[in-house]
Amino acid sequence: MLLIYTGGTIGMRENPETGALESFNFDLILDEVPELRRFDYRIHAFTFDPPIDSSDMGLEHWARLVRVIADNYDRFDGFVILHGTDTMAYTASALSFMLENLCKPVILTGSQLPIGKLRTDGKENLITAIEIAAARHEDGSPIVPEVCIYFKEKLMRGNRTTKINAEQFNAFRSFNYPDLATVGMHIRYNEAAIRKPDKSRPFKPHYLVESNVVVLTLFPGIKQSLVHAVLNIPDVKAVVIRTFGAGNAPQLKWFKEELMDANKRGLLLVNITQCQAGSVHMGLYETSLPLMEAGVVSGYDSTPECAITKLMFLLGHKLPTEQIKKMMDSNLCGEITK
Ligand code: ASP
Repeated sequence: MLLIYTGGTIGMRENPETGALESFNFDLILDEVPELRRFDYRIHAFTFDPPIDSSDMGLEHWARLVRVIADNYDRFDGFVILHGTDTMAYTASALSFMLENLCKPVILTGSQLPIGKLRTDGKENLITAIEIAAARHEDGSPIVPEVCIYFKEKLMRGNRTTKINAEQFNAFRSFNYPDLATVGMHIRYNEAAIRKPDKSRPFKPHYLVESNVVVLTLFPGIKQSLVHAVLNIPDVKAVVIRTFGAGNAPQLKWFKEELMDANKRGLLLVNITQCQAGSVHMGLYETSLPLMEAGVVSGYDSTPECAITKLMFLLGHKLPTEQIKKMMDSNLCGEITK
């Protein structure tokens, strides 16, 4: 098992003299969580140096994670990534695209309270994440061969997950896809929901991502000058439009014209809903027809984190706009329901 420590609250401990929270050397993890010694497999650790708060996560860190996993892919049966909770859903989504044909578990976890605190949620999250990453079917194949987030008794598909609470231990939710496992006295896997990888296809790590993406959230009374400014930001290549309900937008003439102009200039426009649960259904209401006519593509039931990182991944590969549109319309690794 390879444990990759990127940073975040989980890896902090209270300095007994000052009371301040500080990152601790992760080689000491066995001292901090002695329970790990009771696993009967070897756990190796790789630490980001320095560990980072996940608000500082960038594209280069995703590429570094892919590199560490690719370099160690044949040596380890599973990978657990310790990550700050704030941007964990973005990293999980990005990795799901960057680790193509993944056949081994990659489980991200973290905590709301540092592992050195008495009431920490980090120990349970870490121990169970390791157990899930190590879980095997009778034939020896991994039970969960995909990128997931494990947090507070729930295993969720990484690219379906959103952070929904800044305080409570129950901080993540997968609104549009069933949990892959629930944890109580037993770990109950939802086998039907877990991806079945095609083992005949080789694992293919990807390192190219591009961040020229912007998010436009609609609201009643939104001004043309704002929409125009966002759609004309130099270098931006894709816009995730967070619309109302099932993918609806104001029927203003100028709004459609701005979108049509952006589409003509080759900008990729993707429609996702502001609602946490449910899907975009373009054409269901007449308020979504102008979007369709302007060339906006549906993001279906994609989370914002997933729509953004999927576009970053596809843009990074410099694919032609029409091909990116087609791939946005395709389910690449369980990220949308069509
Ligand atoms: N700010 C921290 C981070 O995301 C919060 C956490 O780890 O929960 O790195």
